[in-house]
Formats: sequence, C-alpha cells, structure tokens
Amino acid sequence: MNLNVRYLPTNLTDIVLKNLFLFLTLATGISTMAQNRQLAELTPNQIARMAVPSAAPDFIELEVFSWGWDNNNVHLDSIDLSETTDTIHMRWVDSRHPHFHMPFNGEVRSHFGWRRSRYHYGVDLKLDRGDTVYAAFDGKIRYARYNYGGYGNLVVMRHYNGVETYYAHLSRFLVDTNEYVRAGTPIGLGGSTGRSTGPHLHFEVRYLGNAIDPEEVIDFETGELKSLETDMSVETTFKYLKEMRARRYHRVRSGETLSALARRYHTSVNAICRLNGIRSTDVIRIGQNLRVR
Ligand SMILES: [Zn+2]
Repeated sequence: MNLNVRYLPTNLTDIVLKNLFLFLTLATGISTMAQNRQLAELTPNQIARMAVPSAAPDFIELEVFSWGWDNNNVHLDSIDLSETTDTIHMRWVDSRHPHFHMPFNGEVRSHFGWRRSRYHYGVDLKLDRGDTVYAAFDGKIRYARYNYGGYGNLVVMRHYNGVETYYAHLSRFLVDTNEYVRAGTPIGLGGSTGRSTGPHLHFEVRYLGNAIDPEEVIDFETGELKSLETDMSVETTFKYLKEMRARRYHRVRSGETLSALARRYHTSVNAICRLNGIRSTDVIRIGQNLRVR
C-alpha cells in the first residue's frame, strides 16, 4: 500500500500524459490504427517531419514507435520511394539523440548491391563468433527473434528519425523487443545463424522499408558517420530501386530452351546470352539461374 502511495504521482503523470497523447491523436484525426493506412497517402517528407523529434515532449516522440510497429514481421510494407519526386532530408543524429556507435568495428567483406542473382540489401562485416554487436543510434527494438527468411537471429531497431537498422546472423540476443536502447548498447553477439557461410554481421539501414546503402551513411574505415544529414532522392540514394526492378532472373526448369525463355520474357536469345556471358549454342542446365532482363 505504501508503495502505491509512493508511486501514485508517477502513475498519475503517466495517465495524464497517455490521455493527453490519445486526445491529441484523436483531435488531429490520426488514431494509431488509421495511421498505417494514412501513411501511404503522405509524402515521404511529411512522414519524415512526423518522425523527426523536435522540441516536443517525450510522449509525442513515441509516435515514431507506433506506426507499422510489428514485433513479428521483419519488413514493413514499404512505401515505394522510387516513385517519389521528393527529396528527403534525413538527419542521422540531432541534438536530442546525438550519438552514433559502430555496430561492429570490422572490415566490410561484402557491399550493398547485386550479388549474383540476389540483391544484397546491406553490408557484411567480418567478426568472430561471440563478438559484441552494438546499437548504432538511440531507438527502440522492434524485432528480436529468429528469422526463417535467411537473417537467422535478427535484431531490428527503429530510431527517432524513423530509420531502422538490422543486425543479422547473431548467435545471441542481449535485448528484448520493445526495449528502449541507447547508441552503443550491446544488443547481441555475432554469429552465423540463418543463411550464412561463416561468422559475420549483416547490417542494413532502411527507411520506410527501403534499403539504403550503409556505406552512404557510415564510413566503415574511420568508424564515423559520413555526414550528419543526407538529402535522399530517386537520383541518389534510391536510384538503385529502379535498376534493381528492371532486372529479372529465371531459374531453368526441365525442357526449357533459350528461345523459349526469350519468347516468354519478350527478349531475344542474343540479349540473354549477352547478359549471362554465354553463347547461343551453350547447353543450359536445370536449376541454372539466368538473367533474362
Ligand atoms: Zn549480408
């Protein structure tokens, strides 16, 4: 009973703040439930403004941790940033959340971009099993569980600017979902779980579901941010989206021939040969992955 009395003022403050927040969201016509639907109708800059913490009190800041908040699905329903004409002014850190910490100080072993027939949405940093992996910025853990899509043990963190960072193939978790974490907090131990051929940290940076080349943000040699802000647009950061979607691969099945594939994908045998560095007389194998566009 004494405890209750002692904590009453805190509880009261919480209740008042929560109700005030509820009132504010209702008053502006965006309840948390409706936000996901409405998000699609907003321009990325409007969303960025929603997400960027201002001088507003902490309970307003929580808005960035409500839309699309999902502890069970890795990826958000992306807002297609290759379709936007906006330039998104992204601030990686600001005066309220000024810290950056290297997720891990390791050599970049694999870069962002095409890797054979798959797109690699992050960078691979060399580490040893059991090495500590750190939160890059302040934020909240959205996802911390085993992922069957190839990430293995994966932590996804959302930050105060709406950006999310992914830490994959971990051998152990050091955080739970919905936990608030500061930049530099140990969030897991490195490993090789999931689709991985040896211990490494697969690290991604995403905004509204769209992957960003981490090397555009972080200088992995010096261990520092490349700049405090980045202007992101379809001409720069998200240019790859269009190129990526223009490509198309086909896994060869029994009985298929180059000319059949050319007809099916509205291209020519010569074009397919050029894309794959093969000759039209070459025999294609079942299971072979051919680029067709
Ligand atoms: Zn990787």
